[in-house]
Amino acid sequence: MRIIYDSVSPEYIHLLSKADVSRIRNHVPSDIWERILYIRFGFSGNSTHAGRMVCRGSRSYRIRVNFCPKRVEGRLQSPVVCRQKGYLDGVRRCGGKPDLATKTIDWDLENAKRYAFYVLLHEIGHVVYAEKDLPGSGTFRPSPKEEDWCDNYSTRLMQRIR
Ligand SMILES: [Zn+2]
Repeated sequence: MRIIYDSVSPEYIHLLSKADVSRIRNHVPSDIWERILYIRFGFSGNSTHAGRMVCRGSRSYRIRVNFCPKRVEGRLQSPVVCRQKGYLDGVRRCGGKPDLATKTIDWDLENAKRYAFYVLLHEIGHVVYAEKDLPGSGTFRPSPKEEDWCDNYSTRLMQRIR
């Protein structure tokens, strides 16, 4: 499994180090971990996803975390990328403060890092969901039920890595 960091403009920051990813590894079953080809961190303002899991070929998974906030006057800020309630709930649970008028989210470093963990674990949840062959897994657009399942998976693991 590789960890890839996209290059981003200097005002943007990568939140999770390789050591941070190792902390997660201790809580994910190794047969799941071995199926993940890479985890890629970066940020594209055009994307409407905070994270994405893609399965290519025979049970080989690629994960992308689309979240690098930028420094603005001593704070961190990221755009609101998606209008779905589940997305904003996740942001708020981690301590992000969305402003829907300006479509931006305010973070401090600790909360932003928590959210990056949350997104990564949610995407790993999709891998677990597919590997367990749970209802509707492998479809192009995950069901609301799968999204809830992955949110619960992420929340559960967040409590352990604290
Ligand atoms: Zn999802």
